[in-house]
Amino acid sequence: MDNNADLAAGLYLVATPIGNLSDITLRALEVLKACAMVACEDTRVSAVLLAHYGISKPLLSVREHNEARAAQRIVAAVAEGAAVAYVSDAGTPAISDPGARLAAAVRAAGLAVIPVPGPSAVAAALSASGQALDHWLFYGFLPARAGERRQALQNLRALPYALVFYESPHRIVEAVDDLADILDQDRMLTVARELTKRFEAVHTLPLGEAPAWLRADANRQRGEFVLILGVPAKPAEDAETLRGTLTVLLDYLPVSQAAQAAARLTGAKKNAAYSLALAMRTAK
Ligand code: SAM
Repeated sequence: MDNNADLAAGLYLVATPIGNLSDITLRALEVLKACAMVACEDTRVSAVLLAHYGISKPLLSVREHNEARAAQRIVAAVAEGAAVAYVSDAGTPAISDPGARLAAAVRAAGLAVIPVPGPSAVAAALSASGQALDHWLFYGFLPARAGERRQALQNLRALPYALVFYESPHRIVEAVDDLADILDQDRMLTVARELTKRFEAVHTLPLGEAPAWLRADANRQRGEFVLILGVPAKPAEDAETLRGTLTVLLDYLPVSQAAQAAARLTGAKKNAAYSLALAMRTAK
């Protein structure tokens, strides 16, 4: 498949590597070779990518300021029978990247929008995290402003899902500080950095330890990040376990020792165990 006649008309959203240039699918290469034109987030970035695979195509820049006009041009081309590819700078278009408005415009015109799946940092990080994550919520980038970021985290803290964020090196320290401040410190955090690149690193640790861990080595703050927070402990189940443990321990130990032992056995916070132990002893 190497000429436009072999590719049905439509807008092809083509996923491209997130670091390692070998991470491109055979179908992505076929589409890039066979399409009439490649629309892209940044023509300089995509020109390097295409040159690497020996592909030469007319490039059309689709950025925020010209998106509406560029979309019209692409809609017209597809309506005339062209296959147009869209690539963002890295990964899957429209995942924390431009591409959604273009896809919407082409769909609105009743024309085909075809995904060509491939790399995406969120999927790569989740698969390598080692955390068992049946249900996860992809949030993308947290707000840049501290107040808005903290509010967003307040809204997310009790959701019974793993949480996945994208983060840049400029804000990684602040973001992890806020996560540790607002979410349960016992949640496990996976820091997935520079995936598929030379300095790739995936590290999982309790959230409460993350701010110090990040500061202990400046290299840990460099590069591109995916942050994954494990599912929060289920409060109801935890409370039941703590109460059951204390019921037994209070038969043998004074309040403070029972609370300490129960906290160690169940993973509950010491003050929570102490308050409950006290209440239970008083109620006896
Ligand atoms: N569309 C892309 C995708 O499908 O993953 C995401 C684009 S978004 C503008 C860029 C962010 O994705 C980075 O700030 C980082 O959070 C994450 N990211 C991209 N490449 C990465 C990599 N190689 N390792 C870790 N995170 C990465």
